[in-house]
Amino acid sequence: MELSVIIPIYNEEANIGELYRRLLSVLEPMALPGGFELIFINDGSRDRSLSLLLALATRDERVRYIDLSRNFGHQIAVTAGLDRAAGAAVVIIDADLQDPPELIPLLHQRMREGFEVVYAKRRSRQGDSMAKLLTARLFYRVLASITHISIPVDTGDFRIISRKVVEGLRLMPEQNKFIRGQISWIGYRQTFIEYDRAERAGGETGYTYRKMMRLALDGITAFSDVPLKVATISGFVVSGLAFVVGLYTLYSRFVTHDYQPGWPSLMVSILFLGGVQLISVGIIGEYMARLSANVRQRPLYLISDTNIPPVAPPAR
Ligand code: UDP
Ligand code: MG
Repeated sequence: MELSVIIPIYNEEANIGELYRRLLSVLEPMALPGGFELIFINDGSRDRSLSLLLALATRDERVRYIDLSRNFGHQIAVTAGLDRAAGAAVVIIDADLQDPPELIPLLHQRMREGFEVVYAKRRSRQGDSMAKLLTARLFYRVLASITHISIPVDTGDFRIISRKVVEGLRLMPEQNKFIRGQISWIGYRQTFIEYDRAERAGGETGYTYRKMMRLALDGITAFSDVPLKVATISGFVVSGLAFVVGLYTLYSRFVTHDYQPGWPSLMVSILFLGGVQLISVGIIGEYMARLSANVRQRPLYLISDTNIPPVAPPAR
């Protein structure tokens, strides 16, 4: 199998037919020697999506489907597809035709030039609300500034990844998925192409603000410890402030003799205690950061190439 296309489906009855036609009109002329498969993941749709998928699957054996037991969300749906994809290369694409299938040959070609990941970066987006554009823009920039790995800005999950990357993803069993971050974490040679994002073809968005918020929090907590470190940093700032105010009160008490009785001790003890408390919370945060890194069970590293054969794991 040369190419698997993964398509998460949540209430997409208006788009499935057109999507299928456009995918075929792009994939068939590519004449892939190993063939291709379309993997539709029905993520608990409440419309006729599933019966449309079943009908396609009986007509066309290249159509595979996974029907999830309920709505698990976009990222989990894509993960379910990745777990079953057989292709040497895998494309992740939205069902609503906002990601043009016509880009797949270009993605595939760049991959054959020696890249393991080719993602599609939005040059512009149409049809999304002003609020969505703004929050998305802000989110990608905040995330980029607080994480060590370079997660590309203005990029969704539309991309092609190689088998190596799929295997890497399967080594990351973390519960809170932020697939584009995981793929950046995985590394190897990555590149991108740019495109203009179209409007949703039919139906309406399945990404409520609630789901977007959850995705943003999953991305931040999985790839940055900065929020946990805020307490430590502000603890040191407050302690520094306490020290300066302490010096100042000593100065006014003993040198200028210009002070209200009780004020110096009050100020110093409030600031001092504030600093101590924030630093203590920060220390707990530091342990939490390390705990959460271990709970994620990510591999420590991935090897791109080596001439040393793998060694059997140590016996316990
Ligand atoms: N989707 C999904 N589960 C959900 C929400 C969305 O599988 O809970 C799918 C949806 O069918 C589409 C893709 O994820 O194929 C992107 O969703 P959508 O177009 O609604 O998001 P937007 O483009 O508005 O961010
Ligand atoms: Mg969409």
